[in-house]
Amino acid sequence: MHECLEAVAELLRKGRVVADDKSAPCLSLVFLRKVSSGETLELSELYPAVDPYRVFESPLELLLKGGPTPLLKVGERPKEAWAKLEWYNPFSRSIKDRTTYALLRSVNGDRLVEVSSGNVALALSAMGLLMGKRVKVYVPTAGRYVEPFLEIYGVEHEVLDVTMTVEALEHIRSDVAKGAVHTNQFENDANFFAHIRTAAELDWQLQRRGRRPDFIVAGVGTSGHSAALGFYFSVRYKSKLVAVQPKDWIPGLRRVETGVKWLKWVDAEVVDVSFEEAMKGVRALARKFGILAGISSGAVYYEYLRRSEEGVYAMVFPDDLFKYYEVLRSR
Ligand code: PLP
Repeated sequence: MHECLEAVAELLRKGRVVADDKSAPCLSLVFLRKVSSGETLELSELYPAVDPYRVFESPLELLLKGGPTPLLKVGERPKEAWAKLEWYNPFSRSIKDRTTYALLRSVNGDRLVEVSSGNVALALSAMGLLMGKRVKVYVPTAGRYVEPFLEIYGVEHEVLDVTMTVEALEHIRSDVAKGAVHTNQFENDANFFAHIRTAAELDWQLQRRGRRPDFIVAGVGTSGHSAALGFYFSVRYKSKLVAVQPKDWIPGLRRVETGVKWLKWVDAEVVDVSFEEAMKGVRALARKFGILAGISSGAVYYEYLRRSEEGVYAMVFPDDLFKYYEVLRSR
């Protein structure tokens, strides 16, 4: 477990923490700025700064100040439910904009390499270009639906004949040997700590309605966002994390036994949802609320629907359906 989690827990419990030599580097990842040892940090600094006019000087400013992403009520008492619509992020139209920005801030180097089945590939292409970096992405076969978008960005990419993102990892070793830096969404703790901020944003929104979640339901890919939300809300309100893994295949999700890093840092109930069940969730959301949520969002919603416990549920819907057109046509 990360040595600075205790400092983050203190921030969540007391609303403030004093950084020390050990905690300053990872608190810098949470606060997205350089934090010095001895500095006092307030939880409220993580809440979004909102410009009601939504006028932005640059695309990165749009990412950082364009939020919060909407929180939509998708269930009434006794199983009240709120879903965070992460496709309102500007680049990959997914939660991975947040992850990728944090990864980019955490590494040095002008040449970057990453493996992604979709959303990180898009986010890294967009933000890498904006930051003047040369980006190369490897995409496993299952993620080839993003290829036309990568071509539009003009970034170097290779679709590999492997089924899982982790299997593709060895292909980047030669790039790293030649001097490229691996942003490493699977191992780089910047991923997890970035989503402490996502959790604070969700908390801030729920507070406007006087709500505290009893349950967090989220999908597991790298486990960055599910684990961070689970950590945040279990420390602050003793909420329970329900982590959704794919029974067969769901774009963006993977099974816990394939070795996810951060879910081990929290208590979670891990549940299986199949592609077909996820699509039932997608259809239910479309027919009830008019929204075309992505397949992993459908999986999360399906899990919420089948649970019997009463209480307040907070869910993350990582992206929407549009980029999966080809996936839907081919099944
Ligand atoms: N859903 C979608 C559509 C994704 O692209 C991803 C990750 O790529 C996830 C869920 C899982 O997110 P995480 O990597 O934070 O576990």
